[in-house]
Amino acid sequence: MAEQQQMNPEELLKATKEQCIFCKIVSGEIPGYKVYEDEEVLALLDIRPVNAGHVLVIPKEHYIVLPQVPDDLAERLMLVVKYLSGAVFEMTGAHGINVIQNNGAASGQEVPHVHFHIIPRYEGDKAIGEWVRKDIKPEQLEELSKAMSSRLKPLPKGSTRVSVPVEEETPEEVESAKLKWDASP
Ligand code: 5GP
Ligand code: ZN
Repeated sequence: MAEQQQMNPEELLKATKEQCIFCKIVSGEIPGYKVYEDEEVLALLDIRPVNAGHVLVIPKEHYIVLPQVPDDLAERLMLVVKYLSGAVFEMTGAHGINVIQNNGAASGQEVPHVHFHIIPRYEGDKAIGEWVRKDIKPEQLEELSKAMSSRLKPLPKGSTRVSVPVEEETPEEVESAKLKWDASP
């Protein structure tokens, strides 16, 4: 783990790819319970489902977290997530669906290959714990909203080649754009 913390993003991508369980499913090295496949995207059943019909949508290419995914692939992934959400709703008779996408261990990500969970839900199933919420004052919301909206520009139609942090920004600008938010429990 200490070794991984010193790697640059490319090295980390390569190191995690070699041991990646989802890459092994994509290459056919280990079996997966496939439900959908196209050139760029694969969907499979989660082996430890929250409810039956719990689907994982993954890019065939190895990326660890969502911001690394190229824009056209991100669009494709979202289209497939939308398509399969409808199919899972229809095919499981679920009362609801959660679409969940974890990035980083702190968020609950166990497999370091980008994936979307599509989880069928039923009234009262209590399958996913309630979120622990923070109290926040309207003035703090106002401040956060100003800080975020002043930095985030509308994406041009038809082209989404925009990323955060913005490429021309200095490290100091990136640092000062960080939200002041105490996330301690
Ligand atoms: P994460 O916690 O990273 O968001 O979710 C990873 C998911 O992958 C978990 O829900 C876990 O059950 C599932 N998973 C882990 N290993 C395998 C596997 O070998 N095959 C399949 N189909 N799912 C897996
Ligand atoms: Zn992978």
